[in-house]
Amino acid sequence: MKTGFRTAAVASLFITSTLVAQTTPGAILLVPDRVFDGEVMHAGWAVLVRGERIETAGPAASIAAAADAKRVTLSGTTLMPGLIEGHSHLLLHPYNETSWNDQVAREPLAYRVARAVNHARDTLMAGVTTVRDLGSEGAGYADVGLKRAIDEGVIPGPRMLVAGPAMVATGSYGPKGYAPEWTVPQGAEEASGLDRVMEVARNQIGRGADFIKIYADYRWGASGDARPTFTADEIRRIVDVARSSGRPVVAHAATPEGMRRAIEAGVETIEHGDGGTPEVWQLMVQRKVGFCPTLAAGDATSQYAGWKKGSAPEPPRIAAKRASFKAALDAGVTICFGGDVGVYAHGDNVRELELMVAYGMPPADAVRSATSINARLFHLDQRVGSVKGGLLADLIAVEGDPTADIAALRKVKLVMKGGKIYR
Ligand SMILES: [Zn+2]
Repeated sequence: MKTGFRTAAVASLFITSTLVAQTTPGAILLVPDRVFDGEVMHAGWAVLVRGERIETAGPAASIAAAADAKRVTLSGTTLMPGLIEGHSHLLLHPYNETSWNDQVAREPLAYRVARAVNHARDTLMAGVTTVRDLGSEGAGYADVGLKRAIDEGVIPGPRMLVAGPAMVATGSYGPKGYAPEWTVPQGAEEASGLDRVMEVARNQIGRGADFIKIYADYRWGASGDARPTFTADEIRRIVDVARSSGRPVVAHAATPEGMRRAIEAGVETIEHGDGGTPEVWQLMVQRKVGFCPTLAAGDATSQYAGWKKGSAPEPPRIAAKRASFKAALDAGVTICFGGDVGVYAHGDNVRELELMVAYGMPPADAVRSATSINARLFHLDQRVGSVKGGLLADLIAVEGDPTADIAALRKVKLVMKGGKIYR
């Protein structure tokens, strides 16, 4: 094709303006009443966002001078890091809609993914800009695909850390209750033996897992009670393999022995932890292992089982959970915000934070768990979880002050992820 001078000049102008647009995108100055930076509150601060990152945060008067910035006034709000959910299952939906067994055994994969697309959007719109998704529960590597679709902007959703299928000891998990002659696909990948657990860990990593999630115990006891599953040797091997690749291992564990094996083998967070003892909490403090209590999961399933919360006394299971959470708090265990959302509705993530406060945690500490602490626990603190220059602009504005009243987190007025406003 013939290219005249005029065409070339136009093309060159176009390229120049495109380059300008990429290198100096318009800045946004967010002016709330106060800024929670992930650690502490600052009255009268503003935050300047340029491109996908926070350029600077500080007293409004000191940064208002940026001439090219579009000013967004957020009266009555607290601006803070987007919430980081520590324990989600975007491929599950509430168990009072469909039991876990039926979701795993009877729902087509495409159906589950279609639901997950909605779950991802609902999560982001609720102010959760990152999730650590702890296993697809029978949906294979659908979480890896979901993460990619979000990262590429195909669908709205939070940043995702994904586990893939997760790993369980042979014979321990579910769905259960079928004729023993049947081999039923499981809600996680089975493995046994030192070689096999290493192979499964490597395979999951190769297919896109950001970390390895194991079930250190499960309800496979002689009377259906929770008992340790993997041997200490097996867990150490899994941790060895994952660490070689720079990935953490996290463990579902609810029994003292399951928790102890996982902690001593080097897992980074314990999920659920219902049976934690003073010795176990001490061990977690010593080894700097985080604790995701998943209070909201038990609260939800107890209500699904018939508990009339508010009018009926707390079932023993809830009372025990309240006590064990308080014991972990008092022992100084690092508390992760992770509710096992999926058991209850995606987008209702704040339910866990409200229960953390109801069970004895100061609201400001709960908000720290949901931002800077989870960011550190999940090795994301150089990217998200705080409001400071250089980090990704994952920010939310909520009406009121969540460090005084945690329910303020339900009044989301703005959701920004990577500098882009979604709400
Ligand atoms: Zn879970």
